[in-house]
Amino acid sequence: MLRTLPEYEELAARAHGHLCAGQILGLRMALYGMKLLDLADPVGADRKRLVTFVEIDRCMTDAIPVVTGCRLGKRALKFRDFGKVAATFCDLQEGRAVRLLARESAKDRARELYPEMESKNQQQMRAYRHMPDMELFEAQWVRIAFAPEDLPGYRAPRPLCAQCGEPVSFRREVVRAGLTVCRACAGERYYTPL
Ligand SMILES: [Zn+2]
Ligand SMILES: [Zn+2]
Repeated sequence: MLRTLPEYEELAARAHGHLCAGQILGLRMALYGMKLLDLADPVGADRKRLVTFVEIDRCMTDAIPVVTGCRLGKRALKFRDFGKVAATFCDLQEGRAVRLLARESAKDRARELYPEMESKNQQQMRAYRHMPDMELFEAQWVRIAFAPEDLPGYRAPRPLCAQCGEPVSFRREVVRAGLTVCRACAGERYYTPL
């Protein structure tokens, strides 16, 4: 069942290490997503229905799983590094998804509401607790075509890379010059072996 915002704030502060405007914004975003998708129990009865995409790796991102229960290790949290304060919440059962983008104007509104507060973080924390969903976020219904290997619970063989010998899960292997290799050996390596 969904909790109250103060309860979520406590959980978010513990998970993230501190409470900040980003935590409140992320919690509000996830709660709005659950409301639009009509999901009342994301970490309980509805937990297998939900997949979340996040588009930035900032404070806000840590707050989203606190509400949705979608975690990277469960394959239910997908990171797309677009540098945008946005997330998409997908209900797999109903086959619908909503993308929420934080409005830039929300910061100005926070300043208008609490001009006496000096810290922007304090201003925003206070304002984001009660500002209406529509003032905080722009919502867009979207369609997501999932490949089966991207969904939680997918099972497939784990071929060994023909070059480095490391096993590759979830069909992340590629074929190069007739050889099945991992993405690192195919040229996407982000590290240099010493
Ligand atoms: Zn933070
Ligand atoms: Zn390899």
